[in-house]
Amino acid sequence: VLLVRRRMRSSGKWAMAEAILRELEEKCATPTAKLRRVADAMTVEMHAGLAIEGGSKLKMLISYVDNLPTGFGALECWLRVMVKKFDVLSDYAFCSRFRKIGFFILNEKGLFYALDLGGTNFRVMRVQLGGKDNVIKQEFDEVSIPPQLMTSSCNELFDFIAEALAKFVASEGDDFHLPPGRQRELGFTFSFPVRQLSLASGTLINWTKGFLIEDAIGQDVVGELTKAMERVGLDMRVTALVNDTVGTLAGGRYSNPDVVAAVILGTGTNAAYVERAHAIPKWQGLLPKSGEMVINMEWGNFRSSHLPLTVYDYTLDAESLNPGDQIFEKLISGMYLGEIVRIVLCTMAEKASFFGDTIPPKLSIPFILRTPDMSAMHHDTSPDLKVVGSKLKDILEVPNSCLTMRKIVVAICDIVATRGARLSAAGIVGILTKLERDAPKEGEKQQRSVIALDGGLFEHYTKFRECMKATVDELLGEVSDSVVIEHSNDGSGIGAALLAASHSQYLEVEEE
Ligand code: BGC
Ligand code: MG
Repeated sequence: VLLVRRRMRSSGKWAMAEAILRELEEKCATPTAKLRRVADAMTVEMHAGLAIEGGSKLKMLISYVDNLPTGFGALECWLRVMVKKFDVLSDYAFCSRFRKIGFFILNEKGLFYALDLGGTNFRVMRVQLGGKDNVIKQEFDEVSIPPQLMTSSCNELFDFIAEALAKFVASEGDDFHLPPGRQRELGFTFSFPVRQLSLASGTLINWTKGFLIEDAIGQDVVGELTKAMERVGLDMRVTALVNDTVGTLAGGRYSNPDVVAAVILGTGTNAAYVERAHAIPKWQGLLPKSGEMVINMEWGNFRSSHLPLTVYDYTLDAESLNPGDQIFEKLISGMYLGEIVRIVLCTMAEKASFFGDTIPPKLSIPFILRTPDMSAMHHDTSPDLKVVGSKLKDILEVPNSCLTMRKIVVAICDIVATRGARLSAAGIVGILTKLERDAPKEGEKQQRSVIALDGGLFEHYTKFRECMKATVDELLGEVSDSVVIEHSNDGSGIGAALLAASHSQYLEVEEE
């Protein structure tokens, strides 16, 4: 307070803005002790969400993925050699046998499709799996979703997707081949909270991230997609429905067996991890052979009294499409960071005449300041902050910003991004704590834990990424050496295709 007073006296014109800035900084502070409490609260909620359905704001959804692709594990390599040597088993029989003994192996030949819906873009891709050599050839196409479709009707959205998919399938070149008599198969990455009924079906619980299509809630999204594909005359079968975190986990684990969890930091945020099946009291089904089950946490909906919420966050939440929901996500993810900065700037404009006597009209448009623009301003290293100057001019139509103004803008970006990055690190530590990988175990060699990370925020917002990683190390201390954060480049799409392949209808047929 003293510091703020002193600054107010000394800086005249900017005093009020500085005071607002200092208060923001105080309210957003995430000292280590606070983050530990957040991490612990995350662990507690994980237990509660696993105990009974609806036991926590963390949905802890069962993914039905109980056998992750393992790539070339040692045992697999050995078995491959044996099979080659004695040449007793066909490829498919080999696969099925593997599955029977509780392993998954992707010795599958064939063409698989994946569809990824969950942010501002959706992606279609095809992967040719080359059997024994595991040659993977892939192609993808990205289509941006017309914004009006995000709040339209279920049929309109799925028709648009099915049409784009049909177009993509029609462009299939000679490099890709579907064995004769086979139906094309699809892994569907649908990045919203879904209550799975099986690996290949599930009902939408609620929308997030700017989507709101009432008539889709409660529907089986695979059923809806299948009907839309039929409407456009596309013959394709969905063999896996996965969240992007689950796809990323599958894709990550395939290339690295030490992957224990996957986190998405993109438009939205979420995490999935591998849980021991007997640690899921609410699971009523048979215990999977592997003894494991992938859990989609839906951590975006985490909420705790330890979260550093400000008046700006309450404003953002109240004006959102899903007030009261996804509070953790609203502090962290790419859809919201720029918007928080905008809301802070609105207050500065009103209370401190930050932009002069009039408030720039553009400033009142929700979501006009996107996180990539915020990131560009935050990373501006020019002495006169000219990137900040041009962003203020181009986006908010503030023609002449002085250096003091630009510096304050950068400081806001820094406070908001740092809070988000540090909170996401606390979330990761919460998962490691649940897995008992957050502290050294007496007399045991520390296991390596790899977290597969994906999403545009992680990939492109360098300061966010670096702060997040540094905070994980800060919280883990001694064991930080054995925890690795790894970028899983489009693990989600590949993972969905791998899961589709491993649950192909033809595997079972060949087994007979
Ligand atoms: C969704 C999750 C998803 C995450 C990242 C969240 O808004 O609820 O299902 O995994 O965004 O895409
Ligand atoms: Mg994605």
